[in-house]
Amino acid sequence: MEFSELAKVLASIESTTQRTTMVRLLVGLFKKLEPAEIDKAIYIILGDLRPPWEGLELGVGEKLCIRAIARASGAKADEIEELYKKTGDMGEAARRALSRRQAQTLLAFAGGRKAGLSISQVYDTLFKVAKASGEGSQDLKISLLSSLFSQLSPDEAKYVARFVVGRLRLGVADMTVIDALAEAFGVPEEALERAYNVRPDLGFLGKLVAERGAAGLAEVRITPGVPVMPMLAQRLSTSREILAKLGGAAICEYKYDGERAQIHVSPDGVAIYSRRLENITHAYPDVVESVRKSVSAREAVLEGEIVAVDPDTGDLLPFQELMHRKRKHEVEEAVKEYPAKLNLFDLLYLDGEDLTDKPLMYRRLKLSEIVEEGEDVVIAKWALFDDEEKVDVFFHEAISMGMEGLVCKSPTSVYEMGARGWNWIKYKRDYRSEMSDTVDLVVVGAFYGRGKRAGLYGAFLTAAYDPKTDTFYTVCKVGSGFTDADLKKMYQMLEPYKIDHRHPRVSSRMEPDVWFTPGVVLEIIGAEITLSPLHTCCLGAVRPDVGLAIRFPRFTGRYRTDKSPEEATTVDELLEMYKSQKKVKVEQGPEAAP
Ligand code: ATP
Repeated sequence: MEFSELAKVLASIESTTQRTTMVRLLVGLFKKLEPAEIDKAIYIILGDLRPPWEGLELGVGEKLCIRAIARASGAKADEIEELYKKTGDMGEAARRALSRRQAQTLLAFAGGRKAGLSISQVYDTLFKVAKASGEGSQDLKISLLSSLFSQLSPDEAKYVARFVVGRLRLGVADMTVIDALAEAFGVPEEALERAYNVRPDLGFLGKLVAERGAAGLAEVRITPGVPVMPMLAQRLSTSREILAKLGGAAICEYKYDGERAQIHVSPDGVAIYSRRLENITHAYPDVVESVRKSVSAREAVLEGEIVAVDPDTGDLLPFQELMHRKRKHEVEEAVKEYPAKLNLFDLLYLDGEDLTDKPLMYRRLKLSEIVEEGEDVVIAKWALFDDEEKVDVFFHEAISMGMEGLVCKSPTSVYEMGARGWNWIKYKRDYRSEMSDTVDLVVVGAFYGRGKRAGLYGAFLTAAYDPKTDTFYTVCKVGSGFTDADLKKMYQMLEPYKIDHRHPRVSSRMEPDVWFTPGVVLEIIGAEITLSPLHTCCLGAVRPDVGLAIRFPRFTGRYRTDKSPEEATTVDELLEMYKSQKKVKVEQGPEAAP
């Protein structure tokens, strides 16, 4: 088909206000296209030459595009730039520039215009532009583009120019294309949607359905190297509702605050895809390496959450710390400064077998069989509960450990690609609190450091005092806020207090590497005071079997040498602080609780 015909359809799509008209126009187009060119037409309509995970970019900015239009139209680059500024639309700038030329050229396009370019010719040239890389590629890109523009009519050039600068913006969504393909080729929409969730590549599917109809779609399978649409979660705010929805029992997993990763292992290597199906492998060379070492499978598709860790303490850091990975030149630094830890929670495919229709319990079992857990790769912390109290205790533990909450899943559920169903339910908080004041806590134990902190302590177990029982109750494990000098100082300061067992005046559920007689007092601040079953401070005071903890604790730099351990913050003061904390609303996702 000639590209001019496609351009006409694009113009009609652009001018319609009705989705149904949009679908009708696409149906008409799809029916007329040759199977060999339908994929190319679909990619053009959707504004990308290839699906997102292939990461193929034209690599043509506005300046380059302007130069190409200038060369093709015989105008000066300044003039094109002026046109672009005036119209704010590269397409319009190209159209006007080429119209002027057309008016000047007797031969061009008048009456018996020579045969125009086909869709394939336009697509293939754009593909070559994208593929041009390395030395001299800029010139090659410009000459390919200018020669393309010079063979197009002004109206065709308008759409090509918009495509080139990434501003086609026809508002055609994937679902619109799916509807149109289903109607054009008489296949059930569900069949197309299923295939799309397994292989979200509409160019590929369009061609497949045009050539082989529903039979072709039925053969679409998970393929390592091609990401599937991820399963998403609903949201509820109480454990009672969650258990009721999940049939009385749930696999509850920590909801890590990181980046979701779909990891494909194949003989070609390890590839990582984002939630939006982009290839993000380059951002996580450390994760690639640890997957290579820890996962024993020839082929596998795994899912997990990548979280940045503090290399010295092993603490998980908030999501923002992964942002350094987004800038290519910072990746190497980020790997050293904020190494990534992979928390795996699902296995979708293993050595030729699609596991998505197997129950979650089974998938998890298989996952644990192929993963050798280590420092950098673990299986997401989880537990199976049929009791709402227990879910809540686990929830508070997760929050106090810096998680966003839990993801509760039906143990018997299959993996529903692309669906936001009720088999996965997020349990997050509507409110979080804010810790407004510092506390003075006593060091009762310590954990050996790693990395830069090897040979010293990396984190400390700290406690509040209860004068009623003359006992120290733990509140947090703190590793942040210490400079290198602080760590050396702490090591020396604590030496005289070292003992080989828990001090009888200390109550703890944690087992540090080293115990101390209560003596050293530190000033600590945190994000908030939360409930936690991991600490003994005020155990049972707010809810059974759960104590108080400080979330994201940090040493302020102030040693309270002026205070004896018995003058540290008391458990009652902490309880008071917990109760009177300022509450802040937590932003909700789009899927509101019903
Ligand atoms: P949110 O903004 O709450 O993260 P979302 O819309 O990005 O939600 P949802 O599918 O609704 O995504 O919530 C699940 C998200 O939680 C996943 O995309 C994933 O990134 C993250 N997550 C963290 N831990 C887990 C886990 N154990 N199981 C599933 N998802 C997890």
